[in-house]
Amino acid sequence: MNKAIFLDRDGVINKEVDYLSEPEDLELINGVIEALSIFQKLGFKLIIITNQSGIARNLFTENDLDIIHQKLRDILLENKITLDGIYYCPHHPDIHLKNGNIKFLGNCNCRKPKNGMILQAQKDLSIDFTQSFLVGDSLRDIQSGNLCGIQGFGVKTGKACIGLKNEGIHLDDLLKVAKYIKSHP
Ligand SMILES: [Mg+2]
Ligand SMILES: [Zn+2]
Repeated sequence: MNKAIFLDRDGVINKEVDYLSEPEDLELINGVIEALSIFQKLGFKLIIITNQSGIARNLFTENDLDIIHQKLRDILLENKITLDGIYYCPHHPDIHLKNGNIKFLGNCNCRKPKNGMILQAQKDLSIDFTQSFLVGDSLRDIQSGNLCGIQGFGVKTGKACIGLKNEGIHLDDLLKVAKYIKSHP
């Protein structure tokens, strides 16, 4: 069994942009490289779980998203960091969404606060939730982890931290979380 850090993407790894669709708009948040290095050295699998309803909204395609994620993997690899998985939800629950892509509209089990992405990662990578953590900048991130009994950390680097107050442990950013976990074995 493996231990893992489940990471929301926007506002945790990269700076929040409304519906990031261009690789050149991908900008890492300060301290993220160091944080991920710490997690990796501690033996955690690194798993991104991200809602990407921009696909259902027809703002970008799965192929566009793959290009952004390849760029992210490349930047991290230059720093000797390997992502063990990237899971995204392309859906949006509103079946009548204006200009939406019907293929991705409707309820699913993956869109956070549901926990479908975490469960899939557990299957693929044999994760022990009791040794794992989740980091997010919104309430639904933390709730998604809570459904699996995973300890959540809220960070203030995103724009969606409203509502997080009573959930999980709150720290400034991912680097603070890494240092916290390192010093609380
Ligand atoms: Mg976020
Ligand atoms: Zn979904």
